[in-house]
This record gives sequence, structure tokens and C-alpha cells, in this order.
Amino acid sequence: MDISEKLRKLPSVDGIISSPHLATLIERHSRERVVNTLRNILESYRQSIMKGKDVTVSDEAIAEDVSAVILDEDAPSIRRVINATGTVIHTNLGRSVLPEVVVEAIKTAATSPVNLEYDLEKGKRGDRDSHLEKLICRLTGAEAATVVNNNAGAVLLVLNTLARRKEVVVSRGELVEIGGAFRIPEIIKASGCRMVEVGTTNRTRPGDFEEAVSDKTGAILKVHTSNYRITGFTESVPLKELVALGGKTSTPVVEDLGSGALIDLSLFGLPVEPVVRDRIEKGADIVTFSGDKLLGGPQAGIIAGRQEIIKKINKNPLKRALRIDKMTVAALEALFRIYLNRKALPERLPILRCLTRPLEELEGIAEDGAERLARHFGKGALIEVRDGFSEIGSGSMPGEEIPTKVVSVRHNTLSPDRLAEIFRKSDPPIIGRIHDDGFLLDVRCVDKGEELVPSDSL
Ligand SMILES: *Cc1c(COP(=O)(O)O)cnc(C)c1O
Repeated sequence: MDISEKLRKLPSVDGIISSPHLATLIERHSRERVVNTLRNILESYRQSIMKGKDVTVSDEAIAEDVSAVILDEDAPSIRRVINATGTVIHTNLGRSVLPEVVVEAIKTAATSPVNLEYDLEKGKRGDRDSHLEKLICRLTGAEAATVVNNNAGAVLLVLNTLARRKEVVVSRGELVEIGGAFRIPEIIKASGCRMVEVGTTNRTRPGDFEEAVSDKTGAILKVHTSNYRITGFTESVPLKELVALGGKTSTPVVEDLGSGALIDLSLFGLPVEPVVRDRIEKGADIVTFSGDKLLGGPQAGIIAGRQEIIKKINKNPLKRALRIDKMTVAALEALFRIYLNRKALPERLPILRCLTRPLEELEGIAEDGAERLARHFGKGALIEVRDGFSEIGSGSMPGEEIPTKVVSVRHNTLSPDRLAEIFRKSDPPIIGRIHDDGFLLDVRCVDKGEELVPSDSL
């Protein structure tokens, strides 16, 4: 059969739509949808034939294709995945997994009317920040606080409020870029401010700031170098000195902490990350930090600090544009209440639980997973449990690694890339990482060994 003959043999939409094979699909999904899908499928058949490919065209085969396309279109795009990457707060995997009580609070806010902006005492309009401000103040020692959509928004809003059409003085050693195109110089510009860089990449001294601060300065900015460390011949200006200069010159000092911790994580054997309360005590006028990094909550940007500045921020029209929704309000409230009772914290906060799991527990999961994987892959596979390192991720504690157990998967005929693909295409997808000549599954964020086994047989 030549190509034109094959094309002629293709049924038309009208010719096939009344086939009994399509009847159930039409009943379930509407005639219009089946017709549209058919049209696309027949067109793709046509393309294939023109490229010289063989295409089997029976009513039955076409109906199966229609069904597969519809099923695929209706499948949710957001899916649960197994995080075996070893990065606990993985931005690409949605950062923090939320505590159960937080999920409950979100559910309440999502499924019923709530007093989001309604004062139940007075019976009139209330304020959505009222649910959170006192809690943030209790946890950080700040006078006042507000919350926006994320920490990038928080920095933008703070700088725009304090320094629009003015200068923001910042050390060259702190011009951070974090993932997703957040760069301090660009955020300063987008905030309507002019950046004045001082010092050098590795050394900035108090005198550099003193020289730069003038009556044109709207804010002194300190940025936590979340995702990198400058080591060697270095010097940076401690917050205390910036605060002294800010006091002398009546210039507000703003610190972007990035992750920010509400408690001293070294209490749980974790590396030290700046604690918000400490920065407020040291005199920062405003501190901003994320809700979904080390805090372990929903995406949010928290702004804590001086009352008069928070008041100004709340009057900025950008605040309205960046405000959080009712589910985030509910989630943050529940999260902050967990922090008020520190003892139970590692049990109640999933990210802290992941970060503090004992090695023996991880080893048990890794051994179990390895056994199951050996059975799954059979001959040709080399599956081993090894020591490894997890990282916190999202720019928290760069260079600090936490000992963990990993399952290494190698195979005679399957390359590491191919193995990664097999795991990724599992249901749920299992995301590991490629290292040297193998594929690694870190069990730190994995509950059970069986979660490491791909759903499809080879
Ligand atoms: C992560 C980070 C941000 C951005 O926070 P998001 O909540 O992701 O918007 C800003 N500054 C620093 C230093 C960060 O580490």
C-alpha cells in the first residue's frame, strides 16, 4: 500500500463516531470532547503515515487511543512524589511538608466561612494580620509584624516602603542570588530604590558603611548569605555595628534572613542558622524571613520589627497586592502555635523530624528498601546501602551536611540516567540523584523501604 492509499483508508470523524467502541466514551465525556479528541488523533495518524510509518487503524485501536488521551488529560498535574534526593527542603519538590495540625487548619479555612477579617468581639470588620501578629511578636520579641506572600515579596515591600526613590546601602559580599531569579540588586531596583554597594566581595568594614550613609539613604540592608559562604580572608560588618550606625544617622536597618529560624536549631544537633529573636534583640529594625524554609510552614514572607515601620508597610498599596490568602493565615497560625510548645517540636514538625531522624532508623529503611530493590531488579543489579550526606536545602546552612544512609542502585545494562528515569516514571514518582556511576536514593525523607521500589516491573 502506498502512502496515499493508506491515507484514504483512514476513517473520517463522522465515519467512526457512531462506532460502538466509542459509545461509552461519549456517554462518559460528552460527544464534543470525543469528537475533538478523535480529530487530533486522526491528524496524528495522518502525520505518521506521511512520515512513512505503519499505523493500525481499527475502530477498537482508535477508541483505545481516545480513551488514553482523555485519561492523560484528566490526570492531575500536581502529584505526590517520593523525595529521595537527600535535600530536605527541596524548592522544586515544594519545600516544607506541613504538620498535620497545619493541614487541619487549612482545611477548615478552605471548607467553611471563617472570621478572616471579622472581629467576633465587636461584630465588625477585622484585620487578617490580627490572627498572626501577636504570635509572631511572642516568638521573635518584635514589637509588630505582618505577613506577605513570600520572602521575596517581603523584601520588596520593606524596601519600597522605606527607601523608594532613595538609596539602599548593602555590602558587596551580600549581593545574593538565590534560585528562581531572586537577586538582591534586582529586587532593590524593582523596589524603586537605588543600590549603593560598599566594601568588596570578601571584606566590608564599618567605615565603608559610614562613608556611604547620607541623607539620601532610605535603608541599610543586611542579607543572610543563605546559599554560599565566603571563606578565607574575609570581614563583614556585624549587625550590631550597622544598628549603631543606623541609630546615629536615623537610618533603618533591614535584615533579610532568608530562611530564618524561630528557635536555636543546635538544640536538636543541627548546624546553627540565625534566629530571628536574636536579630531583633541585636537591634535590627526589620527582619524578613520565609514561611516554608526552616520554619516548616506554608509559603509566606514574614516581616517583624518596629511598630512604626510595620504601620507604614501596612499602608503601602503593595501590601494589598502581596497579601496572603485565608489558607495561609490559618496555616501560619497553627504553625506558630506548634512553636510555642517546643518540646514536641521534632515530632510535630515534619521537616525537623526529617532532619533529626536517628541513623539507625534510616539504616533500617535503607536495608529494607535495598532488599526489595534487589528482588525487583533481579540479576544484573548491584544494590548497596552506603553512608552519605543529606542537606537541608533552600539555602539553609550551605556546606553543612547531615550524615545519612543511601541506597545505591547500579545495573549492568541500565545507565544511571536510565535508572533515574525508571524511578521518576514510577507511580508515585521516586526522585533520587545521580552520583558518580550510580543512582542514589537517600532515605532521610522516606517513610518506608517499600516506597523506594518503582511501581512498574521492568
Ligand atoms: C530564600 C531567600 C529569599 C526568598 O524567599 P522566598 O520565601 O523563597 O521568596 C530571599 N532572601 C534570601 C536571603 C533567601 O535565602
